[in-house]
Amino acid sequence: GSLTVKDLAERMGVKSAEIIKQLMFLGIMATINQEIDVETAVVVAEEMGFRVEIKERELDPEELLELEPEEDEPEKLQSRPPVVTVLGHVDHGKTSLLDAIRDAKVTATEAGGITQHIGAYQVKYQQKRITFLDTPGHEAFTAMRARGARITDVAILVVAADDGVKPQTVEAINHAKAAGVPIIVAINKIDKPDANPDRVKQQLTEHGLVAEEWGGDTICVPVSALQKTGLDELLEMILLVAEMNELKANPFRSARGTVIESQLDKGRGPVVTVLVENGTVEVGDFLVAGSAFCRVRAMIDHKGRRVKKAGPSAPVEVLGFSEVPQAGERFYEVPEEKVARQIALKRQERKRQQELKASGRISLEDVFSRIQEGTVKELPLIVKADVQGSAEAMVQSLQRLSTEEVKVQLIHQGVGAITESDVNLAALAGAIIIGFNVRPDVNARKAAERELVDIRLYQVIYEALDDVKAALSGLLEPTY
Ligand code: GDP
Repeated sequence: GSLTVKDLAERMGVKSAEIIKQLMFLGIMATINQEIDVETAVVVAEEMGFRVEIKERELDPEELLELEPEEDEPEKLQSRPPVVTVLGHVDHGKTSLLDAIRDAKVTATEAGGITQHIGAYQVKYQQKRITFLDTPGHEAFTAMRARGARITDVAILVVAADDGVKPQTVEAINHAKAAGVPIIVAINKIDKPDANPDRVKQQLTEHGLVAEEWGGDTICVPVSALQKTGLDELLEMILLVAEMNELKANPFRSARGTVIESQLDKGRGPVVTVLVENGTVEVGDFLVAGSAFCRVRAMIDHKGRRVKKAGPSAPVEVLGFSEVPQAGERFYEVPEEKVARQIALKRQERKRQQELKASGRISLEDVFSRIQEGTVKELPLIVKADVQGSAEAMVQSLQRLSTEEVKVQLIHQGVGAITESDVNLAALAGAIIIGFNVRPDVNARKAAERELVDIRLYQVIYEALDDVKAALSGLLEPTY
């Protein structure tokens, strides 16, 4: 099923431009009258804060979406822990500081659990929780931002008191400012004999950060990650800043958030750490992240404990993903497994198309868009048929389909099954294989999968011609 951007906008009571903007974030360039599939519509709606209910099992676009603007009713909003990223110049002590806080504040569980490195951890200070992202540095920070994830509430800028402001310190300041994230400065290594916190503060003023004690509004906390001093003050300041920013979320809505770490574990399959932003993830929920989908099989927190639920700002390791999504990818809870699978499949298909594009390979479906982009001027084909006569007939008719913009170019023709060497040739030439009354053998099929070569099989000549014609004019229906 599908509906137009305009339909969706009307149904949601928002401007079409808003929808188009969201689609752009998803990498889809759409116009107002463009049809988008239901799965995409669901993602767009959820991202815009609507709750989507699937009304019918059958994916009928008219009946499918029950869109309920989700303003997160004030009474459902609860304050949530701040999410903290540690930034700063190399060797200024980012990792040491994260470790020191973890060591001091995260106690392993009673049940003999051991703390797990899952990409983030949570500490409790004065009965309040704080989530720390475990990968320091602004590379991770910007990589996430580039994917549209704005997960950090507070940035801790670590500056070594003996070294002062350095190029990466300045970069970090700029990144945090660009993201609109409040900065707390941790002046580290104050245990060192040549530590000079005043010089650090002086240098920071040159970059627009004026310390509170100097009349500005930048909080500076002297710490020593080595001697574990100043940590409580730092945590206190984080809570203070968080309180001023009134961080709230609605734990009762469907979950969404960001993948912060992922890996393929030999025994457990894809192991994916997510940071919940809003809503609550529960065991048994259905999630989509990029082209991966998930029925949450189990969740493990940073203390190695199995948990049944993870609410706002909680980092948790999720088991049950179909594949490994990238860090920085957004995840959404969807109401049904079927929808989760379909969204994931659509995205896999899109990813495959992009890979094809990147590798110079081509599938019949994307011929037209690439003609329009001007990246394709020739359509290279390989024709295999059961008998020589059909091969000849096919080739002649295909060649007649050449237009002013695109020339049908015959790379190879032959009689017999489609073989691995046909596929390899197609891969080299960026060609599509047309088979008439023949099939690929096992090796050819494997090679085609590996090399992303499009093989089209026909029993009727004019159907092949129709498809190629349609591809050249942009009318080919996708076949997935
Ligand atoms: P990162 O690159 O910013 O993550 O820095 P690291 O945490 O790896 O620290 C770099 C070096 O500085 C290591 O040798 C640490 O032992 C040392 N270091 C970190 N914090 C302190 C501190 O508070 N005092 C002293 N004297 N050394 C520190």
